[in-house]
Amino acid sequence: MRALAFDVGGTSVRGAVVGPDDVVLAESRVATRTGPAVLGDIARMGEELLAGLSPAARAEVSGVGVAFPGLVDTESGISRRAVNLGLVDTPVAAPLAERLGLPVTVVHDTAAAAGAIWADAGSPASALVAVLGTGVAAVTYVEGRAVVGVSGQAGELGHLVVDPAGPPCVCGRRGCVEARAGARAMLERYAALGGDTSDTSDAGITGVAELVVRAEHDGLAAEVWSEAITALADGFLAVGALLAPGEIILGGGIAEAGGALLDPLQARMHERAGVTAVPPVRLSSLGGRAGLVGAARLALAPTENRA
Ligand SMILES: [Zn+2]
Repeated sequence: MRALAFDVGGTSVRGAVVGPDDVVLAESRVATRTGPAVLGDIARMGEELLAGLSPAARAEVSGVGVAFPGLVDTESGISRRAVNLGLVDTPVAAPLAERLGLPVTVVHDTAAAAGAIWADAGSPASALVAVLGTGVAAVTYVEGRAVVGVSGQAGELGHLVVDPAGPPCVCGRRGCVEARAGARAMLERYAALGGDTSDTSDAGITGVAELVVRAEHDGLAAEVWSEAITALADGFLAVGALLAPGEIILGGGIAEAGGALLDPLQARMHERAGVTAVPPVRLSSLGGRAGLVGAARLALAPTENRA
């Protein structure tokens, strides 16, 4: 059994054919476009990925999973509201199912990524799973279940205010975790301090991975990365003070920074903990693939909630 999986992020749309044991067999990526164009991009990417498979491999693809941002109605496959994409009440599953000739499951991106990270970590009974990318979000697991809240949207770690005098956030407030530690916010901050984020110059950086490498010898990059670490530490400590999770597991593209993230983050949390117990923090092996893997798993799950 194989699935076609998509992860619709703030910067890029990733698509992949995912096989058993979460092996990514073929992958592609395009820059995220807003409005209905993004749905056409997903369909076209899906057609290309399927066309690249042998007939036997193609016959094994049994479903499509789409990890989608914003407010998602999984039962109907409709995007209720995706602010960054400019979509309101837009059918996602039905038009893709028609184009690709496969059943389509649409799921909230954080839920897909966090679910995959949590399962990959051995489904711990008590954990905070953070997904660090363009946005910052988290899912808390208590007694082996995800806490979704009455809105279904619990886990907006990125919009905890950790510095009321900090930079404006996309949500309209100031000093949210995401305004310091989201990928786009970090690159904007680096540019605002005088760093070069153009991709045409040797001095330029275009991604957080480059920022982290540069932080070893570039004071501006080091400052931005340190501010992000502090914001994450304070966000995790706030959640820790309320919920005391057994552990914190980090996934998403920024978690691919590895020790350059984990070591200073743990140190910063201990420095700033006050009376709050600091839980162990570890990295998910899924990194930036978590959304794709989660979407694929849901596509291959039993057949409810499909278009
Ligand atoms: Zn915010």
